[in-house]
Amino acid sequence: MANTSYFAGLIGGIKSLCNGLSVTFRELWTPKITERYPENRKENNIPERFRGTLVMPHNEKNEHKCIGCGICQMQCPNGTIKVVTEMVETADGKKKKQLVRYEYDHGCCMYCMLCTRACPQGAIEFENEYESAVFDRKALIKVLNKPGSKCEEKPARPAVAKPATAPAAANGTPATANANAAAGNAEAKAKAEKLVAAAKKAQENAVAARAAADEAKAAAEANPDDAALQQAMTEAEAKAVKLETAAKTFAQKAAEAVEAAK
Ligand code: SF4
Ligand code: SF4
Repeated sequence: MANTSYFAGLIGGIKSLCNGLSVTFRELWTPKITERYPENRKENNIPERFRGTLVMPHNEKNEHKCIGCGICQMQCPNGTIKVVTEMVETADGKKKKQLVRYEYDHGCCMYCMLCTRACPQGAIEFENEYESAVFDRKALIKVLNKPGSKCEEKPARPAVAKPATAPAAANGTPATANANAAAGNAEAKAKAEKLVAAAKKAQENAVAARAAADEAKAAAEANPDDAALQQAMTEAEAKAVKLETAAKTFAQKAAEAVEAAK
């Protein structure tokens, strides 16, 4: 009995040694994937979706898409973004918010992308630049809007035909007209506040759904043979994408309502 277990153990040990050596010899002839950084800087292939640094793309006319609504600043959990705006008067006499300075503190960013997901204009995005080391932390505070840049002009909306029966304000006294305008303004403000609250709620739902989807993905990847977990991952991802799209739509509507209420 003792002899049998001795030889069984010996054979088991030899088998295990052969297994280990086979891996060693296989890897000895496998092409090497070690990156010779920084010598390979030029040909280094960084995945497109790698989150390196936040940028604000500008077009060839030095225009960006930021309307200065500040939703990204509100969404950022680290206080990484500072949006400075000013009120200007447009050619048609309306007041409009305008971006003055868009500050991004790269040293505080945790690359969660809540800002880019919340932006109703698609004005900011992550690029895959990865060499961000500096000697002074102050150098990590960047201004993303270029000097002299401005917000892209949107094509003017077609004028809405007025109803045949003119509203009371048009025919009434100036006092009535003012009262109507004030009531309209208060209504627009209330609507904007409601939409901002709805956008915030939608964003919270989207964040929770994304966290659940990431959890489901991790569980499914740890158990690739478990069909139920794979199915749960697919469903959670679909739900997260749906809620993220809804959150973006709400954020867009809220930004428009805020603009209209000014
Ligand atoms: S990625 Fe996250 S931490 Fe970084 S600026 Fe955007 S919201 Fe803030
Ligand atoms: S959410 Fe977008 S449009 Fe609004 S301030 Fe931020 S970058 Fe600009």
